[in-house]
Amino acid sequence: MSEVSLDEILPGEFYVLTPDGKLYYPEEFEGGDEGFRSLLAKEALGESRAFKRSPHIEYMKKLKLAEVEPLSDAGHLTYLPKGTLIMDLLMDYSLSVVRRIGGLPVKTSIMYDLNIPAIKEHANLFGQRMYKVKPFKREFVLRYAACFGQFALLRRHYLSHKDLPLLIFELADSYRYEQRGEVSGLARPRRFFMPDLHVLTADLPSAMNEFKNIFRLIMDEGMKFGWTYYNLYNVVEDFMREHFDFVLDLVRMEGKPALIYIVESGKYYWVINIEFHYIDSQGRPLETATVQIDVGNSKRFDIKYHDVDGTAKYPVILHTAIHGSVERFLYEFLEEAAKMANRGEKPMLPTWLSPTQVRIIPVSKTYLDYSYNLLLMIRDAGIRVDIDDRDISLSKKIMNAEQDWVPYIVVVGEREVKSNRLSVRIRKRGGKAVEMSLDELIERVKDEISGYPFRPLYFSERLSKRPEIV
Ligand SMILES: [Zn+2]
Repeated sequence: MSEVSLDEILPGEFYVLTPDGKLYYPEEFEGGDEGFRSLLAKEALGESRAFKRSPHIEYMKKLKLAEVEPLSDAGHLTYLPKGTLIMDLLMDYSLSVVRRIGGLPVKTSIMYDLNIPAIKEHANLFGQRMYKVKPFKREFVLRYAACFGQFALLRRHYLSHKDLPLLIFELADSYRYEQRGEVSGLARPRRFFMPDLHVLTADLPSAMNEFKNIFRLIMDEGMKFGWTYYNLYNVVEDFMREHFDFVLDLVRMEGKPALIYIVESGKYYWVINIEFHYIDSQGRPLETATVQIDVGNSKRFDIKYHDVDGTAKYPVILHTAIHGSVERFLYEFLEEAAKMANRGEKPMLPTWLSPTQVRIIPVSKTYLDYSYNLLLMIRDAGIRVDIDDRDISLSKKIMNAEQDWVPYIVVVGEREVKSNRLSVRIRKRGGKAVEMSLDELIERVKDEISGYPFRPLYFSERLSKRPEIV
């Protein structure tokens, strides 16, 4: 492998940067693990591997999470009650992470006037993937990210240097006219929810500092859920030469080779833009989280802050989605479940995301009252619990609970009532039945979901009372 010197880099080319500071041509680079090799193959080497249809689409249907909306455009999904509950939990989670670092939530409009020069300019950079809305003679663009609304808000208000870094956040439904052939389930819809965070900083050095913090946070968030991101750094040529040590620091932080794409100077509003790629159950990379440094839009949108000496200055803005779109966040969890299935385990969602966390199954009508009392106690402890009170066989009830990926199944019969102990099938343990007390069950579930958002069930706790869409 021959090294490339920094002087030799050219726009429009890919390079591999290793933590020891060496640059290589992608074709010659032999290192990196499987995840990195697949990123390299897809992005830099143009190797197109054949992939099967992503299993997440099958799960999306089987679990009754979402359906393609035939009355809308392709890539527009309708979420059913279970999918809505999960999406809301993911949004709650995203918001909690942003609040932890001081983000200020807002809700802005979804459409912007294309006659306004700043909007038009920005939209032109975005290109053909816009949705346009034309009431009578005017023309609006549906937002493809939350930048417009947040920028417009910040322009209207006085900003002091003391307010910086200022973090502003919106869970924004966004619209992008993706190519028809690329539209795919939760991986690439045309309407999606973006947890869009912008960080206003005083100047480039402080932006670079905040960038490092966000970079670390994104990597940590992936690790927390059990996946490693493989990263593509899009870097403007001049920035790469002037701030090579900064880029190298990021690569060292991730502790593995990174793929670098050099972009011509002066062409975009950003100087560095990192795409964090998740590797799915078939080894295919898909970008999810992202962070970039924007040096052009504060001027374009006339956003200023007032410095110590009173002079008005243009801030440098970070754009970031710490978890990528909410759809891709869910896609990651479903693909993680597919990985479990690949390993011969029972696929499941983390307990905090499971629509039903505990299901109680009375073996017959005789145990219905006892079972319902259990339900009340579990529900009052802040756990999503339901009861299969239908008049069907025990084996069918257990099969349905398995199909619903319920993490804890409690079967109640004569033995349980007499002994006051519960027989709990734990999905994570392959459905093995473990005997425990009610308190032990509650403690165990609470332990697993602590630190994550909670919402109550979005549908009846009695299975007999649920319409087909649940
Ligand atoms: Zn933005």
